[in-house]
Amino acid sequence: MKRAINFGAGPSAIPTEVLEIAQKELLDFQESGLSIMEASHRSKLYENVHNEAIALMRELYKIPQDYEVMFLQGGASLQFAMIPMNFNKGGIVQYADTGVWSSKAIKEAKIQKLNIAVVASSKESEYNHIPSNIVFDDNADYAYITSNNTIYGTEYKTYPNTKAPLIVDASSDLFSCPIDWNKVDMLFGGAQKNAGPSGVTIVIAKKSLIQQGASDIPTMLQYRTYSENNSLYNTPPTFGIYIIWLIMQWIKAKGGIEAIEKLNTTKANLLYDAIDNSNGFYVGHAQKDSRSLMNVSFNIKAKDADLEAKLVKVTQDAGMIGLKGHRSVGGLRASIYNAVTLDGVQALVDLMQKFAKENA
Ligand SMILES: *Cc1c(COP(=O)(O)O)cnc(C)c1O
Repeated sequence: MKRAINFGAGPSAIPTEVLEIAQKELLDFQESGLSIMEASHRSKLYENVHNEAIALMRELYKIPQDYEVMFLQGGASLQFAMIPMNFNKGGIVQYADTGVWSSKAIKEAKIQKLNIAVVASSKESEYNHIPSNIVFDDNADYAYITSNNTIYGTEYKTYPNTKAPLIVDASSDLFSCPIDWNKVDMLFGGAQKNAGPSGVTIVIAKKSLIQQGASDIPTMLQYRTYSENNSLYNTPPTFGIYIIWLIMQWIKAKGGIEAIEKLNTTKANLLYDAIDNSNGFYVGHAQKDSRSLMNVSFNIKAKDADLEAKLVKVTQDAGMIGLKGHRSVGGLRASIYNAVTLDGVQALVDLMQKFAKENA
């Protein structure tokens, strides 16, 4: 068996150790004679997995007691619609536009005909940075940011201060670095980039915010339904939650979120150094002060599409996948989420240096 080095943006790499455990337990989980997939979501067998996953997420992410940890479905994209449905109170809803994903969130608020303020945008410069000095109105219904911009490879180094509830789309940097919960009222993401398989959306929200949510919308679209029922109002995505549980155990064994962040920083620095020391052969998309630790987007020279396609081919021949950049930016993108190893990143850097020498 040969495993690819997976630089895909999402769904993306899952630690081999985790997949091996899942494989071993697939037919007979904890001597139950069942796959966890086949177990009732009301059984003790499953409930233990569910509750341990939540407990580990709380422990690793240092989530305060007055926050709820919930499992939803519909991807991060359904959150774009649910957030305004639940939290607009007829006032202003505010967004920072830092890329395609924030634009899509704004679009859903527009469909609901809300009073929207886009307080900052980096659209004019191809979303290559996080605008500085973002100022949200403290009296708005909520303030919304995308912490890591998966396509452009930019991330907030600190979240903006605001007294309005701050809501963060952390789909592509979940569990990659510590969170300052003093600033955040709700943080969410599809699990499939850094925290598990697709099909599970993780939502962590302050209980007081959840309680203020609208109650004249469908039951399944109210956060309180998940909060009041420990995400077991209806059948949750049980197998995905099981994988999240295994991934949390894996993060803990690695030394926790701080250790993971340190490793992520080492991996990202390795790649950014290779770009910066290439005499202009490689050009990073993001401005240096906005560079993401998760997604490294870059071009070759002035977007030399032929050379870029050639490099993608070379990486594929070397057993690497997922390096073709998003169509809106072109070039290449290396997504180096938690599960991508330092050895994997080193292999890519070696290959990039060799390629630059041969094609300069
Ligand atoms: C991938 C991604 C999304 C979309 O997630 P889905 O689960 O596919 O809906 C939203 N926001 C960000 C930042 C993403 O990276």
